[in-house]
Amino acid sequence: MMFERLKKTDPEIYRAIIDETKRQNDNIELIASENFVDTGVLEAQGSALTNKYAEGYPSARWYGGCEYVDVVETLAIERAKKLFGAEHVNVQPHSGTTANSAVYLAMLKPGDTILAMDLACGGHLSHGHKLNFSGKFFKIVTYGVNKKTEMLDYGEIRAKAIEHKPKIILSGASAYPRTIDFDKLRDICDETGAMHMSDIAHIAGLIVAGLHPSPVPTAEFVTSTTHKTLRGPRSGFIMCKKEFARKIDVAVFPGLQGGPLMHVIAAKAVAFKYALSGEFKEYQKQILKNSKTLAASMEELGYRIVSGGTDNHLMLVDLTGKNITGKEAASALDKARITVNKNLIPFDKQKPAVASGIRLGTPAMTTRGMREGEMKLIAALIDKVLTDPQDAKTIGSVRKEVKDMLKSFPLYRID
Ligand SMILES: *Cc1c(COP(=O)(O)O)cnc(C)c1O
Repeated sequence: MMFERLKKTDPEIYRAIIDETKRQNDNIELIASENFVDTGVLEAQGSALTNKYAEGYPSARWYGGCEYVDVVETLAIERAKKLFGAEHVNVQPHSGTTANSAVYLAMLKPGDTILAMDLACGGHLSHGHKLNFSGKFFKIVTYGVNKKTEMLDYGEIRAKAIEHKPKIILSGASAYPRTIDFDKLRDICDETGAMHMSDIAHIAGLIVAGLHPSPVPTAEFVTSTTHKTLRGPRSGFIMCKKEFARKIDVAVFPGLQGGPLMHVIAAKAVAFKYALSGEFKEYQKQILKNSKTLAASMEELGYRIVSGGTDNHLMLVDLTGKNITGKEAASALDKARITVNKNLIPFDKQKPAVASGIRLGTPAMTTRGMREGEMKLIAALIDKVLTDPQDAKTIGSVRKEVKDMLKSFPLYRID
């Protein structure tokens, strides 16, 4: 990447960008919601398209000069439709949260009920957290996981749907390591008169590759981010049945947003094209193999994996048996250049800011080319740090091992 101009005009921002790029190059990145985009995505996002106002939709804009951004947005829409088999796609939401907000705005009135997964069991802030728009304007009823299996309990969801009669039943999560049964949710919706909205932010890439069932054929609304397993720019999009197309489009613009970010929409189109390739399917398969290997290796080292394993790209490691909190673990690992996040585990006794677990995901390191062998090494490095989190010598030696290991998996060039 070259920043010749920026280096002269704004050395402070230039320095921070270079430092952050180096950090990404030099760390083992296990945050399950992060990934590394292709340079083509960066190029599209850094292009002159950022200059263009294009309020409205292709061929129906409020501004002149939209002929080329129309090409871009139409390609993004067509590619997303093909990827997921969707009837209608809106690629304008700036983020996953905005995508979710647009569906609520389109379909609900203030005070209507949403049944969604509890944040403490793996849900997302935009699914009804009390400080989020969703939690302030709607009545939120939550479902969790079964105490014993730590998996979704469809009997509980059904009972809550019968009792509370939600307008929308929301599926999807940020920290749920198991396959979600969308057919069962459809049945519950049909039985109780609810609409099914599915937020596939985390698992979209796996769905594209056929490694997780898709809610697109059966759910009224499917929302997603583009920057997690999908490996695109930081953004969102919405899929829906044709009958809701206009309501969704109006909710995004002018309902929630003004001008679309055309440079980001171009970057989304680039990512969607890659996701249509055979190579992308192989990549997703490797994410899954790596995830299963990492979970099994952690288990072998004596860590309890929530729900006993993983079906997707992420896992929750319960640290309660290891005498260390999620917060302490994440901070010690950070010093050793292994990036993770602390995470609540189901029925956690700690506060969210402390938490008893860490969440590990494999998309980013799979992008760098790592395979099962490296996952075993990473598990061993994590164990070294967590066994001796205060020991500067251990941390120093793991830091060095991380650096050596990453030499074989180059990421971004800094000239
Ligand atoms: C990451 C995530 C989002 C939102 O993403 P932002 O782009 O950060 O707003 C929404 N839903 C779920 C389930 C997520 O995991």
